[in-house]
This record gives sequence, C-alpha cells and structure tokens, in this order.
Amino acid sequence: MCAVCSEVVAKETGYSTGFLTSDSSHPLFAFNYTTLHKDHLRQWSKYEEFERLVADFVASGLYAGPPILPSTEPFVTPMYRMGRAYKIGKE
Ligand SMILES: [Zn+2]
Repeated sequence: MCAVCSEVVAKETGYSTGFLTSDSSHPLFAFNYTTLHKDHLRQWSKYEEFERLVADFVASGLYAGPPILPSTEPFVTPMYRMGRAYKIGKE
C-alpha cells in the first residue's frame, strides 16, 4: 500500500525502500519496506526526512550496498538488495 494515498501499489508504478536496517533503535527502521507510488514520492510528508536519514546512513559508513533512494530507473523489487551487507545494529 502507498504511504501517501493508501492505494495498492503496482510493481510498475511503485517504489519500495526495501530492507534498510534490523536495528529497531535506528531512525530508518520505521522506513523498512515502505512502498509508495513513484508519482507520490514528492507528496510524501516524510520524503525529506527519509532522504536526509539515508544520506547520513550512507555517509556514516554503516551501509554498504546499492543506492537506496529512488532513481529514474524502472521499479526494482527489494529482492535485488537481499545480498547486500549490513553492518548496523545487533543481530
Ligand atoms: Zn499513492
């Protein structure tokens, strides 16, 4: 479901944050598997916060993997990030 309009998000028109962190005390934990229509990204009230948190996360060196933020590429399921390395938090 889209975090903006609560409608079902189709694969072709959606964006998903995927799995970000297993650390429940990390601010990005709340954004795990957030899905949105790509058209609604800019209307998402938390987009700027999310973007900032992701930038900090990447800059902190705790994240190693493909880019998290949406690009202009076609939608890719979170599956493609399953092999990335997580160094944050406890197991
Ligand atoms: Zn939507």
